[in-house]
Amino acid sequence: MSLIVQKFGGTSVADPERIREVADHVARTRRHGDDVVVVVSAMGKETDELIRLAGAVSKVRPGREMDMLITAGERKATALLCMALHDLGIPADSFTGSQAGFITDNTHTNAKILELRPERLQAALRDGRTPVVGGAQGVSSDRDVTFLGRGGSDTTAVALAHALGAHSCELYTDVPGVFTADPRLVPSARRMSTISFDEMLEMTASGCPKPAMRSVEFARTWGVKLHVRSAFTWEPGTWVQEEEPSMEQAVVSAVVHDTSEAKVTVSGVPDQPGIAARLFRLLADAAVNVDMIVQNTSEHGITDISFTVPHDDLPQSEAITTALATEISASGVSSDAGIARVSLIGAGMKSNPGVAALTFETLAAAGINIEMISTSAIRISCIVRQSQVEQAVQELHTAFGL
Ligand code: ASP
Ligand code: MG
Repeated sequence: MSLIVQKFGGTSVADPERIREVADHVARTRRHGDDVVVVVSAMGKETDELIRLAGAVSKVRPGREMDMLITAGERKATALLCMALHDLGIPADSFTGSQAGFITDNTHTNAKILELRPERLQAALRDGRTPVVGGAQGVSSDRDVTFLGRGGSDTTAVALAHALGAHSCELYTDVPGVFTADPRLVPSARRMSTISFDEMLEMTASGCPKPAMRSVEFARTWGVKLHVRSAFTWEPGTWVQEEEPSMEQAVVSAVVHDTSEAKVTVSGVPDQPGIAARLFRLLADAAVNVDMIVQNTSEHGITDISFTVPHDDLPQSEAITTALATEISASGVSSDAGIARVSLIGAGMKSNPGVAALTFETLAAAGINIEMISTSAIRISCIVRQSQVEQAVQELHTAFGL
């Protein structure tokens, strides 16, 4: 008998029927002899709906009130799931983040967990009851309700798995696992049975939407085994875990793409110490999440700097960059919202030459121009035209025999 944390995303609990199916699955796990702690997201698209509602009521959205509003979504789902469990003869108790012992800082709408005191959950488990915890929430040191941010329920689940010494953390979602490419673009994409934490982190940082990146970081730090699987087929999914030394490392494991970013270029920048420092300090202070950065070698004392930012941050980034460009007498700023990124991820890249060459040859043969390149030890990313990214993913998936 072991303890398993089971987290159900919004689509898994979208309506009464889905909630009853989830209850069935939890009940089956219990009957199998395992203890379960359940974590739930808000039903369906409720989080988006609550945020929209706030905007419809007022332009002022104080963080404290936003957190009180948003966390109501998860709270509702916990109570309903408990009722469905009772119906099946499984004693279950709902818990808010605060009741579950999540102590956070005061950063409303994106709070960080400071401490976890899950005594009430442990007591419930000892009494043979199944705790159902609202995801993505806690209570601040000021005793206000806090929200851990979008996708925060994954983090709730991983933190609980760690604190309770669970065997594993199952993340139930609407896809059957982690794939070698987005199956909507590449019908022959395969579900991977295992993937290392490092590869999963690179994938989430490069556009793979699930699981939430922060939760994968925690899982790696704490050694929590993740099992990403479907709440629609209930079949085994993908295990995300420590790489085993015996494991044959695939040179390339997956192709990931991301269309959520835009590119900003400052040209004619004087090549002097401190310019990049100022630009990226200004962007950081405006909480712009800069991703890829490329600076050219300088010619005649001037250079170009390009970087990518999320689409939502583009207007602000342009304004900041344009103001600085004037001040330092750079020749101009341009931006481009029509880009996309395609990335190859693979732990075996570290020790195998030729991956970059084959990547570039494949894109060249397809007539796809590469606008920016960046790499890590286990990733190669290229910025291409957004209109060509689908083809880029397909060609690379084939070229690397995925
Ligand atoms: N319901 C929240 C969201 O949609 C939290 C979560 O699901 O992780 O972001
Ligand atoms: Mg959600």
